[in-house]
Amino acid sequence: MSSSGGYSIFHDTMADMTFREIEAAARDGAIVLWGLGVIEEHGPHLPLATDVYVPYATLREVRTLLADRGVPSVIAPLFYWGVNAATAAFAGSFVVRPEVMIELMKDVFRSLRKDGFTAVYCLSGHGDAAHNRALLDGVRAGATYGAIETALIVTPAMAQRLEFDPHDAHLIVTAPVERPPQAYIDVHAGNDETSMIMGRFPDVVRSDVVPTLAPTNSLLADLLEWRKGDQHAVRATPDGYLGDPAAADPAHGLALIRADAAAIAEAIIARLAPETAATDGS
Ligand SMILES: [Zn+2]
Repeated sequence: MSSSGGYSIFHDTMADMTFREIEAAARDGAIVLWGLGVIEEHGPHLPLATDVYVPYATLREVRTLLADRGVPSVIAPLFYWGVNAATAAFAGSFVVRPEVMIELMKDVFRSLRKDGFTAVYCLSGHGDAAHNRALLDGVRAGATYGAIETALIVTPAMAQRLEFDPHDAHLIVTAPVERPPQAYIDVHAGNDETSMIMGRFPDVVRSDVVPTLAPTNSLLADLLEWRKGDQHAVRATPDGYLGDPAAADPAHGLALIRADAAAIAEAIIARLAPETAATDGS
């Protein structure tokens, strides 16, 4: 497979491989990386698929980092029918029931096992609590149904927010990624997400709109109101973003993706072979 860039979210994934290449990857013991995002509004300047593009970009970097450490992997076709709660009232946010997502995950895991893969590690592209709870439920149910090792990759902050047990065998908890302190909340279509999309997929950013967007200067109370969803979210963020998109910078976005990918690759290595992980100082 070429890794010459590419724009399609199929590029460098199983979707662009042939069945012979899939057979060979399974024989090589490749692990499967699967990004699961959502189609939802992302302000007046970012595409609905932002939460699909970001895990896709991250997993491509993870795949390269794992290959450098001798761990073969393939990227499953990106999943984008996730669960929207916070932004469900906005146009373009699809409302999929968690049980639908979980059932589909089970079938994907069983299909991968049928092809000879033995482990699937899932990365969420979307911060919604209901989406991530459905993901962990899907990973759990899919392990049994598919007779395959499954895990959901999460940051320590996400595990804490959703009250996941960090020692759950179906979780891969990364090291925390150091971030400079922020005066205001920037969680949805703000500086970080706009920077990441600018860095990897500049053609889908409405770059004429970005400089016109005032910072929301949101505090924790605004974030909690937004997370209630429905009209609460519309009132909290009438323009559909929470943060400072005009401050976006593609170099910042690429650095974020690289830092996340490095933490994820390291956590996967640690799970596969704890004694060889770089974080093990012995
Ligand atoms: Zn997003």
